[in-house]
Amino acid sequence: MKVYVIKDLVELPDLPVEVAGELDLEALEKGISEAPEAFLVYTANPSFLEKACQAIRHLSDPLLYLRPILLLEGEEQFSRRFRAMADVVLPAEAEGREVKRRLRKVDRINQQIDRLNVFQGVSDSNVVLKVLRYIYTRGGEIEPVRDAFSFFGLSYPPLENFFTRQDFSVFNVLDLLEEKRFLTGEFYEKVHFCNKCHFAFLNFMEVCPNCGSGDLTIENLIHHFPCAYVGPEEDFKKGDTFVCPKCGRELKGLGVDFDRPATIYRCNHCRYVTQDPQVKTVCFYCGKESFPEDLILRTVKAYRLTALGENVAIYGMESLLFTALKENLDLLSYETFLTILKLEIERCRRYGVRSSLVAFQIVNINEIYGRLGSRALELFKEISAVIRAVTRKCDVVSIMNESLILILLPHTPEGGAEVVLNRMVTRINQLLLQNLGIEVIIKFGKREISDTDREPVALIETLLNEMVLYEKKGESAS
Ligand SMILES: [Zn+2]
Ligand SMILES: [Zn+2]
Ligand SMILES: [Zn+2]
Repeated sequence: MKVYVIKDLVELPDLPVEVAGELDLEALEKGISEAPEAFLVYTANPSFLEKACQAIRHLSDPLLYLRPILLLEGEEQFSRRFRAMADVVLPAEAEGREVKRRLRKVDRINQQIDRLNVFQGVSDSNVVLKVLRYIYTRGGEIEPVRDAFSFFGLSYPPLENFFTRQDFSVFNVLDLLEEKRFLTGEFYEKVHFCNKCHFAFLNFMEVCPNCGSGDLTIENLIHHFPCAYVGPEEDFKKGDTFVCPKCGRELKGLGVDFDRPATIYRCNHCRYVTQDPQVKTVCFYCGKESFPEDLILRTVKAYRLTALGENVAIYGMESLLFTALKENLDLLSYETFLTILKLEIERCRRYGVRSSLVAFQIVNINEIYGRLGSRALELFKEISAVIRAVTRKCDVVSIMNESLILILLPHTPEGGAEVVLNRMVTRINQLLLQNLGIEVIIKFGKREISDTDREPVALIETLLNEMVLYEKKGESAS
């Protein structure tokens, strides 16, 4: 196993690894000549470990930033949070057999890395994708780790290293990934955070509603049945016995002639007595006092990769097709497209204009990525050129997801839309099939905006449902 070593301890003990070189934390990237199988961090200093992990995870080449990190501990064990940053922890006293057993995890992670569709020279700058790919290569699951040394109490230590600042970024990115349905979250725990500094360690305390002091004594109330008197237990105490302050009789026994119906709080500062003290919190970090309802409350979850998320982790998130179209066409965002489509629907209805909407999709675009690698970019450029050639300046082009192109053709009845679509699909199919020898599955559809259309999203959905597969040998695209 070939590893790069990052260390601040002197003598590296004997390990069943081949050291490819030693890396300097400050110039990590420059020291790497070829992708190692793992990085080995040898330190007794948690902050050195954290810096090393951050430096590795901040690299942009997936073949580097995703590599397993081995932590070779010095004499002392790291806390849970720091141990969780590494993929494999090798305690100083670990025996050869145990070391070998632990190192097997490295192979498992590297096998997952090999499954990624990574283009030579194309790096991951999108941290959302990086996090997703990290989770994918680590068995598709991530759980929060509880640690007193973590600012957030519960955190995802390996994911923290992908970010520079200690803020809610990790939580936000996980939220985003769940929203996109790349991950499913399962409730783990609700955590209160300081609303000033976001620290998780807060002192919850009962305070006097009258003067705000936390110096309260908790007392029981005693209800004396024979005379119906109710008062604090302290008032009944007389030496070793309990005597009713109202009727002067000695109490016999709990449940016999008295009970304790409630608890009261007596303020030692202002002597105020209440059954209902206020709850206040103080942040152990910044000292900010607040009420629980004013704190930041977050649901912390354990996450699992979905099938969709796995696909995105493997093939990437930023659509290359999207990038190419954006560079070569006046491509509108899907949101803007919806707004324009809504106006067009309105125009059609009001002024009897006949306009059409067409959709076009390369169904097996992932195969193109897989087969062509970064050359897919050139192909997408040519596709953009075809679209530009068959559309007019006034046509509106957008892309809905990885591979679905939508074009609004104003003042174009269905027949005209069909001509445009035929030309486009035929040319693109020729381009793909003849020039590249790839069997591409193209789906397409067209629809003239009708009187009954109201909502752009509904219109698009109808169109998508009506889409048909392009027959390879067919001349007609209708
Ligand atoms: Zn008080
Ligand atoms: Zn009494
Ligand atoms: Zn605070």
